[in-house]
Amino acid sequence: MRVIHLSVECFPVAKVGGLADVVGALPKYQRKFGIDAAVVMPWYKKPFMEEHEFELIFEGSFFQGSEKLGYSVFKEKNTVLEFPLYFIHIPGKLDREEVYGYPDEAEQWFAFQHAFLDWQRQQEEEPLPDVVHCHDHHVGLIPFLLKEGDDFKKLADVKTVFTVHNGQYQGWVNWNKAILLPAFDTWRWGMLDWDGVINPLAAAIKATDCFTTVSEGYLQELYAEANGLQDLFYQERAKGYGIVNGIDVAFWNPETDKHIPFSYNVKDVNEQKLRNKRTFCAQFGLPADRPLLSFIGRFALEKGADFLAATIESLLEQHSGGLTVFILGSGDTLIQSQLAALAERYKGRIAVFFGYNEALAHEVYAASDMLLMPSRVEPCGLNQLYAMKYGTIPIVRAVGGLKDTVMDVRNYGYGFLFENLDVASITEAIERAITYFKDRNDWQAIRRKAMALDYSWDKSAQKYLNLYNQLLKSYDA
Ligand code: ADP
Repeated sequence: MRVIHLSVECFPVAKVGGLADVVGALPKYQRKFGIDAAVVMPWYKKPFMEEHEFELIFEGSFFQGSEKLGYSVFKEKNTVLEFPLYFIHIPGKLDREEVYGYPDEAEQWFAFQHAFLDWQRQQEEEPLPDVVHCHDHHVGLIPFLLKEGDDFKKLADVKTVFTVHNGQYQGWVNWNKAILLPAFDTWRWGMLDWDGVINPLAAAIKATDCFTTVSEGYLQELYAEANGLQDLFYQERAKGYGIVNGIDVAFWNPETDKHIPFSYNVKDVNEQKLRNKRTFCAQFGLPADRPLLSFIGRFALEKGADFLAATIESLLEQHSGGLTVFILGSGDTLIQSQLAALAERYKGRIAVFFGYNEALAHEVYAASDMLLMPSRVEPCGLNQLYAMKYGTIPIVRAVGGLKDTVMDVRNYGYGFLFENLDVASITEAIERAITYFKDRNDWQAIRRKAMALDYSWDKSAQKYLNLYNQLLKSYDA
């Protein structure tokens, strides 16, 4: 079975968030199950391109409106990610330093999708994929174009799976840009439309053979609230599945992690984690003899990051000397300036690092005692999974994937959950955690439980395989 994953992020080539981690890991685990899985992504101006070798395998061109765009397809030569990795290079449209944030986003992702389909319809070296597995709205037009694109009739039998990693972002495009799309049966325009604009996420949910979300809890939530698409998700629920993300233990394993000073496993976690904490705290001017609570992530409303400053302030006021805090993240500038002011005011008790730093994130997971995730929306959440693998206890809002993956100590679990998003509820959960932390035996027991959990990709990769099989079988019949 040949499966092509289509995504605009893939770790370690280009990562902004969890999407990259999933696309960089899932195909590797799928190949263990005998699936011929590969990834196709845009060619960016990223260090990965300088550091690796590529072979040119195809060249073509197409019209985007009146502009003729040439493209090249490159394959990474040495299979360094353990799966075939293809890049679509479109000078001026895709070869950029960042993944997101450009004013011509519609042209950017239309071009990527158009080039992929154009390449697939013409290339003869490799068999056509049985399944094209699309990830998030940037490639949301593929299921529609495969079926309805005038030039892609040859591909009409290819099955599609669409995974919703984040339903908040939908890729809305004004209809006046429809001229930039590949030609399609215009009487089918309604498939692309939602509320008077081209909505690539809505188009994907309508046209795909089946869709998945990255946790069962999030799937259920989307039926009730999906940034305007809840009725659509509900209507299409017969083809919806929740499959929780796994973690790539090749990168996220405290026993082998090259980014952390002292490696450890469940047996020596107490001593070794303390050594990591001491080194880390010394680096950031924090005392190492208090519980260390951390946050890693985007400063966005989705992540509840607007609650960080008020919650931390309230905790630091109440616990004179009883808690230290570390924040790693970037995003909303107002949130960032609130946190900077807090770090200035409570020097030696809270430290912050603004920016994206992969290595530092690993150190934070290894050094911290607790990780806070006060998310408004959390499709799956990977941070809590990494935290648990590193013996760091998650304190999370009971929402989406967090609810599915973290069990509260009240139910003999290994984490602390809170329902409401307000300072009182968040601090109450943190207080409960601090109480546990003070009892060495209790803390060690939940830490061991968290570390013993199996969040590897194997189980979920098997579920995707079942889904593909089901799709291909129903087609044969
Ligand atoms: P998102 O909604 O941002 O995709 P996820 O929990 O699914 O959230 O994934 C977040 C990923 O991004 C994790 O691998 C996390 O460690 C990483 N991450 C987020 N912010 C930063 C940062 N500032 N520096 C390093 N890694 C980060």
